Amino acid sequence: MHNAASSTGALRITLKECDNGQPIWLRVSMLFDAPNASFIPDTHLVYDKTGFLHVSKETPPPDLVKGVQMINARELAVLPLLFDAHTHISMCGGELHADKRSAALLRQPATILAEAQRRAQCALAIGVGGMRDGGDKDGVGLALSKTSRIPVEKSHMPLVMSPGAGIHRKGRYGGFFCSPIEDHASLDDVVANRFSNGADHLKIVPTGIINFKKGEVSAAPQLNAREISLFVSLAHREGKMVMAHASGSEGIGNSVEGGVDTVEHGYFVKPEQLEMMADKKIAWVPTFAPVYRQVVHADIMGWDDLVRGQLQRILDDHAKSLQYALRAGVRVLIGSDAGSYGVSHAFGLVEEMRLIEESGMSTTDVLATVCYHNISHLAPSLPPRLIKPGHPATFLVTSSSVAASVKHFRDPLVIVGGQPRSVPESTDLL
Ligand SMILES: [Zn+2]
Repeated sequence: MHNAASSTGALRITLKECDNGQPIWLRVSMLFDAPNASFIPDTHLVYDKTGFLHVSKETPPPDLVKGVQMINARELAVLPLLFDAHTHISMCGGELHADKRSAALLRQPATILAEAQRRAQCALAIGVGGMRDGGDKDGVGLALSKTSRIPVEKSHMPLVMSPGAGIHRKGRYGGFFCSPIEDHASLDDVVANRFSNGADHLKIVPTGIINFKKGEVSAAPQLNAREISLFVSLAHREGKMVMAHASGSEGIGNSVEGGVDTVEHGYFVKPEQLEMMADKKIAWVPTFAPVYRQVVHADIMGWDDLVRGQLQRILDDHAKSLQYALRAGVRVLIGSDAGSYGVSHAFGLVEEMRLIEESGMSTTDVLATVCYHNISHLAPSLPPRLIKPGHPATFLVTSSSVAASVKHFRDPLVIVGGQPRSVPESTDLL
């Protein structure tokens, strides 16, 4: 007799009933082949806590599944875990109260770290297997980076790559997640400080942010191209990448000229700058979600219809830039900026996936980016995690309608090392 499970909730119950030490045999509607950005219909998977034993359209060999009941997971798809290319794990994105957000940043680092650890575990339970952080000034990301270097099957933590504190100029934008250049005698000393603290990459802040009220980046850039280029050469000497927070065409221009590895946000990027990024193999992380959330929460933020309209226009132009970037061959990575105002961890990434899809990236390319290209581009030294025999049985299950649109990505069931993760009791910390 076969078991059937047509929802992730039903599958969770069936997996519990089948938990008797024998391998699990799943027949799923769709398997996502992330490196090739394609769905393979009607696939059999056999796994146990040692890893995948069989992944094929063919039924497994009889001796592998002797006495094992097949679970017919109709209407379900299996994918690798997601990787978020831009987060701030030290901050709760769902906290909308401005005073509470500020107060949270003033707590003891140990308190912020303990909370961030629970936040990361919660994000894992809903599908985020790793993230590249955009920085915090309390050592939270660095501490998580150290513990998360053990494989997720043992650590039960998503991979966290951290730059430590971001790098900005004293008194300029970024004080809540950066330490200033002026704390050190030279740019060389700034970089030496970050890498001696264990930074996985550098986060520099060459520009301010969008002045939402004015609908433009009104402040002058913080770093010029020569300074940026020095940061890049110092980081590359250590084999590390530079992520650059840059919005506004002047600061983006400096970042591209300076040769950063990734442009973060990139609002108001010009077509010729995108072409240069394609030529210089500079990746772009457009982060639609933080600006989209300003539109969603316009009332709480005190934005009137005029400002709201301006923000929507900025998002529409950003979508056009994304389409241009894809045509020009820019490597677009997907990061949510989770932790920033209104952008929750994990849910924010799923929202970013939807916004990127709506802006013109194909469904399979969105999924291939979050399941494969984000991590392979940003952590090229890590072995890829694939749904293949010999790899750990760590993956997620969601509705097979996700093949038609990422807006059907919901209620993921996360399996780590062959074991389902429980649904978090609360997601308030995200
Ligand atoms: Zn950020």
